[in-house]
Amino acid sequence: MSHSDDRTATEAFETLADATRLDILRELGRAEPHGAPTALSFSELRARVGVRDSSRFNYHLQKLGDTFVGQFDEGDEKDGYFLTYAGYTVYRLLVRGVFAGSPAVDARTDDWTCPECGSALAVSSRGDGVADVDCPACGTDYLHYEFPPHGAAERSDDADDLLLAVDAWARSQLLLFDRGVCPWCGGRVDSRLTTDPHTLPHDVDEDAPAFVRYVCGGCGGGPSVEVDYTVLDHPALVAFCHDHGIDSRGTPIWHLVERLDVAIEVGGDDPDGPVAVVSMAEGGESLRLRIDADGTVTDTGRSSV
Ligand SMILES: [Zn+2]
Ligand SMILES: [Zn+2]
Repeated sequence: MSHSDDRTATEAFETLADATRLDILRELGRAEPHGAPTALSFSELRARVGVRDSSRFNYHLQKLGDTFVGQFDEGDEKDGYFLTYAGYTVYRLLVRGVFAGSPAVDARTDDWTCPECGSALAVSSRGDGVADVDCPACGTDYLHYEFPPHGAAERSDDADDLLLAVDAWARSQLLLFDRGVCPWCGGRVDSRLTTDPHTLPHDVDEDAPAFVRYVCGGCGGGPSVEVDYTVLDHPALVAFCHDHGIDSRGTPIWHLVERLDVAIEVGGDDPDGPVAVVSMAEGGESLRLRIDADGTVTDTGRSSV
């Protein structure tokens, strides 16, 4: 990011430091039809925000344009004010509960039991944007990943729904990282396979044989995951599961890994580094996926066992 970008960002954040302006972004974001970009007239928007003084309201609205709020020109099919990309981005941050947080959630599931000990799994969110899935009975941690506080609070009365939402969220982000696209900034993502957990910046299960580390060139973000978690959306595995009557998408990723008895072999003759082979056996057939040093699947095969 250049210094001129910094100046632009500083001006933008200064513009946002006003409750009326944030209310304007909220009302434009909420405007019906919900979730579809729409435009509100000056008087409609002013009524929704609840500011009586027309010139004071206009002052704040003008401050938000053109960065956060756009306006259709005369003669356009639509009429009024709408959110720009920057405006929607701020609105979505507000809705997520990024700044205000949300109440903590800690609940037992009814439908999902611990693969290790059979007790009910717990799903929790401390209201700070991180969700955990773990087993209170045996202490096994299954997932520790970011999840919007708003989404956790909304599902606080249904732990099974929250567990599936957290799984879907983590999984969709993992899929993007695996395809080389950062879900946070859209930047290019590098990946590499490693067998040494001490080279990773994240807490991982040190007993796992291999990991894939993702690093975004844009924002520097990216998770470190056990290698078997990176193949769960691979077409060969999805097809294998489907052929054996397993709903790979409806099964949380940690259950999928456990249920399919994933075996990992590390080693090989790749001069670039370690090679991992993830294999799965089900119904008299086995599937093998070969993952190269750059963390990508390079070969798959099935055989009867
Ligand atoms: Zn357990
Ligand atoms: Zn990024």
